Amino acid sequence: MPLIELKKVQKTYYIGGEIPVRALRGVDLKIEPGEFVAIMGPSGSGKSTLMAILGLLDKADSGEYFLLNKDLSRQGESDYAVLRNRFFGFVFQTFNLLPKLNVSDNVVLPFIYSGDTDGEKREHALSMLKKVGLGERLKHRPNQLSGGQQQRVALVRALANDPLVILADEPTGNLDSQSSKEIMGLLQELNKQGNTIIMVTHEHDIAAYASRVLTLHDGAIITDERKRPTPAARLPEMKPIEKKRRWCCVAGLLNYTYEAYLSIVNNKLRSVLSILGVMIGVAAVITMLALGTGAKRSMEETLSSLGTNILMVRAPFRSSGISLGSQGPTRFTFADYESLQRIEGIDHVVPYVTGRAQVVFQNKNWNTSVVGTSVDYPVMRDVSLELGRFFTPSEANSKAKVAVIGQTVAKELFGAENPIGQSIRINRINFNLIGVLPKQGAAGFQNQDDRVLIPLKTAMYRLLGNDYINYFEVQVKDAEQMSYATERIIGEIMRLHRLPESQRQSIDVMNMAEIQAAAGALISTLSYLLGAVAAVSLLVGGIGIMNIMLVMVMERTHEIGLRKSLGAQRSDILVQFLVEAVLICLFGGVIGIAFGSLVSWALSTLAQWNVYISVGSIVLAFTFSVLVGVVFGLWPAWRASKMLPIEALRYE
Ligand code: ADP
Repeated sequence: MPLIELKKVQKTYYIGGEIPVRALRGVDLKIEPGEFVAIMGPSGSGKSTLMAILGLLDKADSGEYFLLNKDLSRQGESDYAVLRNRFFGFVFQTFNLLPKLNVSDNVVLPFIYSGDTDGEKREHALSMLKKVGLGERLKHRPNQLSGGQQQRVALVRALANDPLVILADEPTGNLDSQSSKEIMGLLQELNKQGNTIIMVTHEHDIAAYASRVLTLHDGAIITDERKRPTPAARLPEMKPIEKKRRWCCVAGLLNYTYEAYLSIVNNKLRSVLSILGVMIGVAAVITMLALGTGAKRSMEETLSSLGTNILMVRAPFRSSGISLGSQGPTRFTFADYESLQRIEGIDHVVPYVTGRAQVVFQNKNWNTSVVGTSVDYPVMRDVSLELGRFFTPSEANSKAKVAVIGQTVAKELFGAENPIGQSIRINRINFNLIGVLPKQGAAGFQNQDDRVLIPLKTAMYRLLGNDYINYFEVQVKDAEQMSYATERIIGEIMRLHRLPESQRQSIDVMNMAEIQAAAGALISTLSYLLGAVAAVSLLVGGIGIMNIMLVMVMERTHEIGLRKSLGAQRSDILVQFLVEAVLICLFGGVIGIAFGSLVSWALSTLAQWNVYISVGSIVLAFTFSVLVGVVFGLWPAWRASKMLPIEALRYE
């Protein structure tokens, strides 16, 4: 039974997709087990094409192919990959060793695709390296070896899976005569041990090692000479083709990860740039989420410390189309303040007038927010001053120029000095500093420690020149009576401002739960918005990765061809490139998380912003970076996987 049989095999190429070149014109050929066949012929006669078809690297346009009497003409590429891995070992003119892998990793490459984790086979392959005199070179890179040594490594790799046929395409084409002799000697010895060898060459002295010489001319076999009889050789039976999903197994993935790692490390600049893209995106996502969550948390804390029996009252807004001119002002006046205090069931009413001002102490200057309020402020907020005292009712009434400052202002203007009793200038007016508030933290994006409190009337009439009050906080005696109190307040305001019933909705009275919900919603929207901006930068990073991966696939076309010749399936190549893209993104993700946390930390300590890095945001950023790798790596990886083995190998 012949080992391989070709019947009327034809192959036509089309140059530029149009002009036909008939590379093989109906070739009939039988290869017997144990033969050492040399294929000769002038350049362009079809030798390489015949070799590729014999080795299942390419498919004939018509005709039949039998391997051990099994017709393979109608099998697909994935079956061919399995058969290549199991039955064929290739040796190329250019050696085709992977430059990033060391000698022993190159030799065990076929095992990745056969799924053999069997240590014995690996040992055997490595022992063959010793036999060919490379025992000391296992950890060397191919470029540290001479041409002859590299070809010996390639030969051992071809033998690793114990193939039935060794296909050698001009194996000595790149070697000096001494190395050529050594390689041919090795091939001859392998043939003596029962291996079938098919070799393309155009040198007669190389062809002289063979037992049979075929000559091709214009795509047809013109001579077929047998020089000596073929010894009896082993002939295994053809088993059904079984495909293992090797890349699913942990060992396969580990291998791809290791190779991806090597490829990243070996292309440092390129890797750093693509990692940088993802890193910036992930860091932005982490920082933005940390800011949003921090703002939300601190606001919740502040608001909940205010108690549940507080109402916030804001002035009726002007609805468009209705002139409120004759119906009273839409701003709160001092009269409103006095009337609200008289409503029954209400403990305290605290008015607020706000503005910004420049505060100066000696040669120090600080821009901060000025809040005019009443003596009830510390009572309602339940704060006792850290230093000094709050202003008194008589100071409040007499528009006294006294001020109480928050922690941030104290630190900026006085440092370690005691501020009590000092004279500060607020918008060029002298104030006597009488107290310092305790640390209150931030509410939302607002730092409550960065403010100066002064009496309401002082703020309205002396400093800001406002004749209206911005809003009130009202403390209701009994938390059960909140809705009743709300109704009373609205009624009172409507009466005072002579508002029609239709304007009832325009008066804004909210309890803490509502304020919390409203502010929370605002902050969430804002943080989603920021998150979206960050996600866009991650997207840009992803496109960068895709770009790099596409270039890399082009550059590594030859490697892809080699891997396919060793039996890699499409899925193997796909997963390998995907793993590489994901690994880059993972590196970017991890560094980005660290960097984002650092930026958040810097914002919280240097700019005193509230940040909070949640586990959720880390998981989110991490998942996102992996997804970016998968999504943007998929297309380049897919392009790599669908390359045809012979075209990838021929790619220059
Ligand atoms: P040899 O190995 O004997 O030099 P080849 O098998 O490489 O010959 O090529 C046989 C013929 O087919 C040549 O004329 C070559 O130009 C042509 N050929 C080979 N591969 C291709 C291809 N991919 N596209 C177009 N023509 C090709």
